[in-house]
Amino acid sequence: MATWSCVKQCGACCHLDPQERPELEDYLSPEDFALYMSLVGADGWCIHYDALSRECQIYAKRPRFCRVTPETFEQLYGIEPEELNDFAIDCCRQQIEGVYGERSLESLQFERHIGLDLSQC
Ligand code: SF4
Ligand code: SF4
Repeated sequence: MATWSCVKQCGACCHLDPQERPELEDYLSPEDFALYMSLVGADGWCIHYDALSRECQIYAKRPRFCRVTPETFEQLYGIEPEELNDFAIDCCRQQIEGVYGERSLESLQFERHIGLDLSQC
């Protein structure tokens, strides 16, 4: 069974372009939605995402909607903790394919990563 964990230097979920996430207002509170929109840069990437290092520059203080935890996913999406693994894998696949492409290096790295269950984050 595949086990979700984040792949370092992937960064796909830091591409925040709201046009690609039309359901944002359905699951974010008005405060979180305003915060989300304030993070969107002109190129669609988060203003805190460093494209060179492919890392978050405010990782320890990143908003709750950036955190993959049972608590946040239950609050935001109504996902039960036992559903989190499969849901997070689907979210990452969708985001990585949307940003980098289905046959991208990032997509291949993610599939290999979750298949091998190597936790790097
Ligand atoms: S899309 Fe998934 S693997 Fe990539 S940075 Fe975000 S959480 Fe990590
Ligand atoms: S705050 Fe950090 S983790 Fe969240 S989208 Fe921006 S760069 Fe990514």
